[in-house]
Amino acid sequence: YAKSLGKRNYQFYAPHMTHEAVRRASIERQMRIALEEGGFAVEYQPKVSVSNGRLIGVEALVRFKPTDGRPPISPVEFIPIAEESGLIVPLGRWVLEEACRQNKAWQDAGYLPLQVSVNVSAAQFRSGNFADLVHNALKSTGLSPAYLDLEITETTVMQNFEYAIKLMRQLQGLGVSVSIDDFGTGSSSLSKLKLFSADTLKIDRSFIRDLPDDRDDAAITCAIIDLARNLNQRVIAEGVETKEQFAFLQEHGCDEVQGFYFSAPLPAEKFESMYARQW
Ligand code: C2E
Ligand code: MG
Ligand code: MG
Ligand code: MG
Repeated sequence: YAKSLGKRNYQFYAPHMTHEAVRRASIERQMRIALEEGGFAVEYQPKVSVSNGRLIGVEALVRFKPTDGRPPISPVEFIPIAEESGLIVPLGRWVLEEACRQNKAWQDAGYLPLQVSVNVSAAQFRSGNFADLVHNALKSTGLSPAYLDLEITETTVMQNFEYAIKLMRQLQGLGVSVSIDDFGTGSSSLSKLKLFSADTLKIDRSFIRDLPDDRDDAAITCAIIDLARNLNQRVIAEGVETKEQFAFLQEHGCDEVQGFYFSAPLPAEKFESMYARQW
């Protein structure tokens, strides 16, 4: 039966819908409202240089807090719903613009320039005019392209390879850099990896978690670091949580690190106050 609670709350709960389907429909509805009413936020997680310990960039991570007082919903849950419903297109555009705007505001305030990395989902990537969107975000915010990095997962790149190459050329033509996110989980062919020529490989957290004790993960991590080095690409490890993981990565020549050991993702104001001194 259909239940109408005014225009914006209109919802259709068919009796056969599973609990899971009802939850997804509810999240989708809440996201539509949040998009209109500013219910999304961006947090920033530091990326740190291994050689000198300095802050060199941030990853922008979207946050969604339901207005009904229920606990926050993880992007792991709402990003796939946004992808399937098409909401990822306006949401992704908002995150991109917000991250560029914030980064430019930090530069205008006199902080040392940082590169901001924005995650790009498969649906956004395939949306046809993605390079125009990036160009417009840079133009409207005034951020220089050198300070924008786009994180695209290995799976997205490899599943849309011809298109990925074309888009990569357009993005690099704009002057932004590109990282391959969750690297090691997406069955790259090495020849494709070479053709795609990303700026950075980002080692997936699953390989970092059991370092340094797990010999397989240690071997894979070292192989990715060597691969990046030989392809003349930078390499960053995500999900670094312990001193021992960091020591391993440092010893084996990883360029950059990111993870709870350094900092969780932080709201913009908190990020500023924590890093103002180092900046
Ligand atoms: P990702 O791009 O691989 O982002 C890294 C995730 O790992 C983030 O989770 C981050 O909070 C978490 N993380 C960082 N350091 C650590 C650590 O030391 N330990 C552990 N256990 N986790 C750590 P988050 O923010 O929940 O995001 C999850 C995924 O959702 C992201 O994975 C990305 O795929 C997607 N996502 C987040 N924001 C956006 C966005 O703005 N656009 C798109 N398209 N996807 C996004
Ligand atoms: Mg990422
Ligand atoms: Mg990642
Ligand atoms: Mg990951």
